[in-house]
Amino acid sequence: MSRILIVDDSPVEIKIIKRLLGDEHEILEATSGQGAIELINETMPDLILLDIIMPGMDGLSICKMLKSQSATHDIPVIFITSVSASRDVVKGFEAGGQDYIIKPFHSSELRARIKVHLELKKSKETLLEYAKELKAKNQELNGLLAKLEATAMTDFLTGLVNRRHMTQQIKTKATGLHINQDKITFILADIDDFKRVNDNYGHDCGDLVLKDVADMMKSVVRGEDVIARWGGEEFLLMLPGIDLEGGKSIAERIRQGIETADFRYQEKILSITMTLGVAELDQNLGIDASIKKADEALYKGKHKSKNCVVSNPCAV
Ligand code: GH3
Ligand code: MG
Ligand code: MG
Repeated sequence: MSRILIVDDSPVEIKIIKRLLGDEHEILEATSGQGAIELINETMPDLILLDIIMPGMDGLSICKMLKSQSATHDIPVIFITSVSASRDVVKGFEAGGQDYIIKPFHSSELRARIKVHLELKKSKETLLEYAKELKAKNQELNGLLAKLEATAMTDFLTGLVNRRHMTQQIKTKATGLHINQDKITFILADIDDFKRVNDNYGHDCGDLVLKDVADMMKSVVRGEDVIARWGGEEFLLMLPGIDLEGGKSIAERIRQGIETADFRYQEKILSITMTLGVAELDQNLGIDASIKKADEALYKGKHKSKNCVVSNPCAV
C-alpha cells in the first residue's frame, strides 16, 4: 500500500480527492504548507498531491524545497490546481513537479497518473539499488583483479618477482635508462650444492633456505633494485644506475652475507654459500645476451671454486 499525501488548504477539496482515490492507498492530509513539510519529513510519503495556491507557503515553494533536499528529492509531486494557463503549468514543472492535473478532473485520470508515478518511483529505486550493488561488485572485482595481478607477478615461495614479470621490468627499465644513457648491471646468483640441502634435510628445509636467502638478498640491495626468482635456486638481480664495479661489490656483499649467515631449520644450523655472476647491460648486445654474459660468469665461478663472485668481462 502506497502512502499518499494530499496538500490543499481546503478540507473539502481534500475530502473529494480522498473519496476519488478510494481505499487502495494510505492517505495523509495537510491543509497548509508548513503542516505539509512537517508531515513529509515525519512520514516520507510515496507521492504528494499538491495544491498550488495556498495562503502562506504555496505549492510551488513547497515543491522547490522538497526537490532541494536529498531526503525528499525523489518523492513524486503531482500538482492539482484550477490554475490552467500554460505559463503556470510550466512553472509547476520548473519547480520540480512530475505532473500537473487541472481541476475538474476525472477520477480515473488521477488514479492512472498516480499509478504511473508510483511505478516510476519504484523502478528508479530498483535501478539505484542495482547501481549500488553493481558498484560494490565492481569494487570487489577490482580488488580481486589487483590481487590476481600481484599473484601473477610474484613467486609464491619467496615473495620475489617471478621470471615473467622480471623480463617485463627489465625491458621497461632498459628502455628508460638507455634514453638517459644510464647503466644497468645484472647479477645472476645461484645457491651452491643446493641439491644436497634437499637430500640431507628434506624439501621443506630447502624451501625455507630459499626464502631466507631471498630475504637476505633483499636486505642488501636498494629499493630501486629488483630481485627475481629466475629458476629453482637461481636469482637474477637488476641494479639500475650501477656499473660493473658497483655490481661486483654488491654481489660480494651478498656472497659474504650468505656465507656468514646461520640458516636455521628445526634444531639444525646450516651453512649456505652462493656463486654470483655479474655483467653490465650491453645495449648493443641486448637484454638476453647481457644476462647470458652474467650466466657465463656464474658458470665460470661454479667451475672455479663456487662461493665466489665472477664478472664478465673479468677484472684484470
Ligand atoms: P650447483 O652448486 O652446481 O648449483 O649445484 P646445485 O645442487 O645447487 O644445483 P642442481 O641444479 O644440481 O640442483 C638444484 C636443486 O634445487 C634441485 C632441485 O630439486 C632444487 N630445487 C629447485 N627448486 C626448488 C624449490 O622450490 N624447493 C626446493 N626445496 N628445492 C628446489
Ligand atoms: Mg645451485
Ligand atoms: Mg641452478
